[in-house]
Amino acid sequence: MATLILYAIIAFILFEFVLTKSVDLLNMQTWDKPIPVELKDIYKEEQYEKAKAYAKANAKLKTISGLFSLVVIVAFLWLKGFAWADTLSASITTQPILQTLVFFALIGIANYILNLPFSLYGTFVIEQKFGFNKTSFSTFIADTFKTILLSAVIGGVLLSLLSYLFQILGNNFWIAGWIIVSAFTLFFAAFYTTLLLPVFNKLSPLEAGNLRSAIEKYSSTVAFPLTNIFVIDGSKRSAKANAFFSGLGGKKNIVLYDTLIKDLTQEEITAVLAHEVGHYKRKHVQKSMLLSVVQIGVMFFVFGWLSSNPIMGEVLGAEKNNFHLSLITFSLLFSPISLVTGILMNIYSRKNEYEADNYAKTTFAAEPLITALKKLTVNHLGNPQPHPAFIFLHYSHPTLLQRMKAMQ
Ligand SMILES: [Zn+2]
Repeated sequence: MATLILYAIIAFILFEFVLTKSVDLLNMQTWDKPIPVELKDIYKEEQYEKAKAYAKANAKLKTISGLFSLVVIVAFLWLKGFAWADTLSASITTQPILQTLVFFALIGIANYILNLPFSLYGTFVIEQKFGFNKTSFSTFIADTFKTILLSAVIGGVLLSLLSYLFQILGNNFWIAGWIIVSAFTLFFAAFYTTLLLPVFNKLSPLEAGNLRSAIEKYSSTVAFPLTNIFVIDGSKRSAKANAFFSGLGGKKNIVLYDTLIKDLTQEEITAVLAHEVGHYKRKHVQKSMLLSVVQIGVMFFVFGWLSSNPIMGEVLGAEKNNFHLSLITFSLLFSPISLVTGILMNIYSRKNEYEADNYAKTTFAAEPLITALKKLTVNHLGNPQPHPAFIFLHYSHPTLLQRMKAMQ
């Protein structure tokens, strides 16, 4: 039975690879289609060729790293790598919580090292070649250390708590796990801009001047406090422009990248801000958080139900089952469901984008938002007409053309 489950897991991994690869191929072909009339003016011919070359370079890297990961994970499962890491952690310590921490540290470090060449190539070769990369090598190293430290601390605390509750609560573990992971998720959603983001970026209030006055004029009409609008130094890493809304409860913040302020007109920046205020007014963060909490609950319910079954360890080739082996088997078994929930969350997110656009249209204006979106597409060398299957699978935002049509 355990072998059969392992075969099913590997079959799904292969299926998911073939699915995403086929959709990637379909999407690459869209670059050779004639551009729709509505978007004719956004790219100059040589820029369009550059965007196409950028998409090709990224697709190639994605294929190579995807193939590599596929071979590694299948080989690792086949050769009982997880059971081996479990034995190794058990030889280091007999304390179950520490065993879990050592086990995930081993897997995490191996995963990081294996991915490093691809992330270096992506940043310092592809992004560099197309003029996006502004990350210095020292920033890259600092980012790496900060990320490792943060994941070790946050992941370590979370895993220790879960492992401890797993040992003492037995069948009722899932309820405690649900509460704790939900609390962590809500906490970091609320404090993202005040706690996590400042570790990597500098946040400053809007400087006095024309832009601030224009934004103030708009934000007072919709009662969004100016003190909650920040500018971050995105240009430290990339030339790509962006903006987002984040936070829960009293912690509502809109973050504008300095690159956005540089590339867009005052009216366009205000329109983008109006879109972000729309996310806040329509309570999109709260609603997505609610969906996440439900999703986490379902996951823990299924995990709690499966986790004590000895087969969860046997699937990975281990003789005995424990918390961390169960967690790995569970996440592999759950991946078809994760694929579906990911698609559903994207559908939901695209609906929210239309709502935020509509909010910007009614409280400010549609035209500057449309020109801003056009500029942003060119700024990112984005695909003006991605394949519908690719949108369905990966897009959290509707396409430029879809958004334009909805606003007109
Ligand atoms: Zn949005």
